[in-house]
Amino acid sequence: MGFKGKGWKWPLERAYHHLFSNDDDIITFAKETGFTDIYFTEPHTDSLYFKDGAYTSYPVDSPVDFLRLPLLSPVDKIRGVIGLGILKVLPFFSFYETISAEQFVRKYMGNKMWEVFFEQLFRKKYGKYAGNILASFLWARIHKRTKDLGYIRNGFQSFIEHIEKIDVKLGVRVKKNYEITNLEQKNGSFLIDGSRFDVVVSTLPSPILAKVAGNVLPKDYLNKIQNLHYLHARVLIIETDQALLDGTYWLNVCTDKVPLMLVAQHTNFVDKKYYNGNHIAYVGYYLEREDKIMRMSESEFKKEVLSGLNKFITKNFKVINTYDFIGPFAQPIFDASFVKNKPNFTTPVPHFYIANLDMTYPYDRGTNYAVQLGRKVSALINR
Ligand SMILES: Cc1cc2nc3c(=O)[nH]c(=O)nc-3n(C[C@H](O)[C@H](O)[C@H](O)COP(=O)(O)OP(=O)(O)OC[C@H]3O[C@@H](n4cnc5c(N)ncnc54)[C@H](O)[C@@H]3O)c2cc1C
Repeated sequence: MGFKGKGWKWPLERAYHHLFSNDDDIITFAKETGFTDIYFTEPHTDSLYFKDGAYTSYPVDSPVDFLRLPLLSPVDKIRGVIGLGILKVLPFFSFYETISAEQFVRKYMGNKMWEVFFEQLFRKKYGKYAGNILASFLWARIHKRTKDLGYIRNGFQSFIEHIEKIDVKLGVRVKKNYEITNLEQKNGSFLIDGSRFDVVVSTLPSPILAKVAGNVLPKDYLNKIQNLHYLHARVLIIETDQALLDGTYWLNVCTDKVPLMLVAQHTNFVDKKYYNGNHIAYVGYYLEREDKIMRMSESEFKKEVLSGLNKFITKNFKVINTYDFIGPFAQPIFDASFVKNKPNFTTPVPHFYIANLDMTYPYDRGTNYAVQLGRKVSALINR
């Protein structure tokens, strides 16, 4: 998961990573396993807009920030605060699965609230699917978000290594950099690339599972999986001599004039001393496989990202290094069809379980849910 650039003390994740202070599953799991290196800070989140011929960032960390936003009228703000407050405080209602986020916001918070506050966030994250995303996703995003964000001393990689050590002591054989190509069922057992197993728990992305386990899972089940749609993540990590953003960790790009989804200035969240005194920023996209950005070479991608950044960053920064990352099937499309077709822990095949990142719905994928899914699936197996 993590990698180290030249002179860095801490490894870095290949895509921006933080925890929320209510990520109870992973926080509890860390405590239970004697891991004490998760810490929390309060980094700043801003949204970038183009207004009166200039790019301006506004803080969006708190209700007070929201009320100060000069882009909405007092009436829009009152409706917005009430709507956001309801999503934040009240539990999940099944109603959220019957209406798109766009319809929900337009109806209960007003057209301006959608057009100014949410539309670009949804367009940049979900592309052509933005209008179909369910209000359940909006609820989860608002409900779960915390101002305090957590990071892990020595990077998320150090927690992975901590768990690996415990697993190995318990007799687990961990195979790294191993690609499963074939899964079969014979005489009541599963054969994975020729090795025998009594139980399978797949954490593979669903479309990859459908390919690998095409001989084991029934056709109609595989068809259901094939109805799930995803975008792929492409992220450029930029190591620079100075911070691209002043003070801001997370910048939502809420203008269509800048073709970037977000900039996460990691070193406004984690001290640059761990990265050889240099600054680290992530620039991320979610894209269709056929998108021209997905097909760009690393140098073309770098040029694309820097030209986007140069639209609103006026300082002269020196790029020391860049690192390119592609995360296949990173963003499931949380629409009505997803709710019907998403996998569950159990499959039609006894002793064959799934615990993958499609199952974090309505929440966005995260390490917290990887832990939660692990707990739930092991409880089912041990029943
Ligand atoms: C852009 C982005 C941002 C994220 N931000 C955060 C964050 O801020 N906080 C947070 O907690 N989490 C975040 N996550 C989620 C986190 O990184 C992980 O996705 C999550 O922990 C689940 O990891 P996973 O390896 O179980 O599943 P996945 O991420 O779905 O990875 C699937 C794994 O399966 C492997 N694989 C695929 N095919 C095969 C095969 N045939 N054989 C063997 N292995 C195979 C892949 O190599 C990959 O390692 C983010 C993810 C992305 C993509």
